[in-house]
Amino acid sequence: MEFAWGLSYNPRPVPNLLAVFPTGGSVVKIHEYQAKAILKRFGVPVPEGDVAHSPDEARAIAEKLGGRVVVKSQIHAGGRGKGTFRDKSGQTVPRPGDGDRPLGGVILADDAAAAEVLARGMLGNVLVTRQSGPEGREVRHLLIEEGMDIASEFYLALILDRATRSPVFIASAEGGTEIEEVAAERPDAILRVAVDPRVGFSPWIGRRIAFGLGLEGKQVSAAVKLTAALYRAFMETDASLAEINPMVLTGDGRVLALDAKMNFDDNALYRHPDIKELRDLGEEDPLEVEASKYGLNYIKLDGNVGCMVNGAGLAMSTMDIIKHHGGSPANFLDAGGGATTEMITAAFRILLSDDNVKAVLINIFGGIMRCDVVAEGVVAAAKAVGIEVPVVIRLEGTNVERGKEILKESGLTFEVADSMRDAAEKVVAAAEGR
Ligand code: GDP
Ligand code: MN
Repeated sequence: MEFAWGLSYNPRPVPNLLAVFPTGGSVVKIHEYQAKAILKRFGVPVPEGDVAHSPDEARAIAEKLGGRVVVKSQIHAGGRGKGTFRDKSGQTVPRPGDGDRPLGGVILADDAAAAEVLARGMLGNVLVTRQSGPEGREVRHLLIEEGMDIASEFYLALILDRATRSPVFIASAEGGTEIEEVAAERPDAILRVAVDPRVGFSPWIGRRIAFGLGLEGKQVSAAVKLTAALYRAFMETDASLAEINPMVLTGDGRVLALDAKMNFDDNALYRHPDIKELRDLGEEDPLEVEASKYGLNYIKLDGNVGCMVNGAGLAMSTMDIIKHHGGSPANFLDAGGGATTEMITAAFRILLSDDNVKAVLINIFGGIMRCDVVAEGVVAAAKAVGIEVPVVIRLEGTNVERGKEILKESGLTFEVADSMRDAAEKVVAAAEGR
């Protein structure tokens, strides 16, 4: 056993990147410029800059900053520097002044006029990065910042580590690239320093990181200040991730956050109305946004079996049993214990508007929610939305007989299953067109 707290040089490789970099429905993401504003408030040095929504604004900000600037696409996905722009018709957008190369998401501009041209090439176009998925993200905000003279790039992050039940700093002298790559290829190049949350941050933690990164002299105290400020920002905002990649050392010896990413735990957002405001619905899956309006717990997945279930536990086991029978769920959907007909209708509509859904499994246990109410909701939704895919229903619990009658009387063609296994087999076969 190792000590839970304190320094450990890479006590184990970073094995579970999902635990380290949580993704999924409960994580709230914000843009780089918003993360930088938060970090700045807590004393993390960041470059001067401002947000632009038009080429004119980009030019005006660049003029104010003076000299060389960097034009940075703001999307909720990393790898922008190495990404490429496409227009809405799918054509690659050429880089102004260098038509042979595609336009990327982070580009230096020598002056305000060049910044305006870059902004015109980025805004309204789609940036594809290794994190964006092949469909990419439309760029609607740009961050225009003073161009920094970079001497070296480092990786620095603070995460909530489930294994040590503490915030853990992750640092590497191999900044700029994605940490997953460094972790896979050179795990010993990653330094992990856990912080005992009962004690909080101590300067020695910052010094360990600074020395670990090979910083010297005045840079060390700059890095200690930065890590202390990062820790405070992380704790006081209930962040689950604060990542600075790269943290840079400039030619004139300053240490600052050149890029910033922060994620938050949505269970803590009620304590942070200001952060809740930063949510950019344009960056979220439209179906997830729609679902959240109805209080449905919906997460889109890659498969083709749409699932409508009540209760998170039942939703998990439904996904498991679909997998077990060789299928793949298109979503996680927990309609909750007290779903109304309106919620069921909304849930059904959301499921069916996902083009990937080839068959739907409705798996309801009528406890608090009665089966007849569910059946009414399903019938109403089916009539309103129109179903073009097979629907398998498994109902159990309160008023199940009445529920089944309602389905039968509707004249709609549902396949009624009598057990979870039966339902899974039927829906997987249906999704495969069997
Ligand atoms: P990401 O690709 O989405 O992670 O975006 P970043 O903000 O990390 O930018 C990507 C890369 O662009 C950085 O790693 C830097 O190498 C480079 N870059 C960003 N801003 C500047 C700048 O002000 N000056 C210089 N020289 N390079 C920059
Ligand atoms: Mn970055």
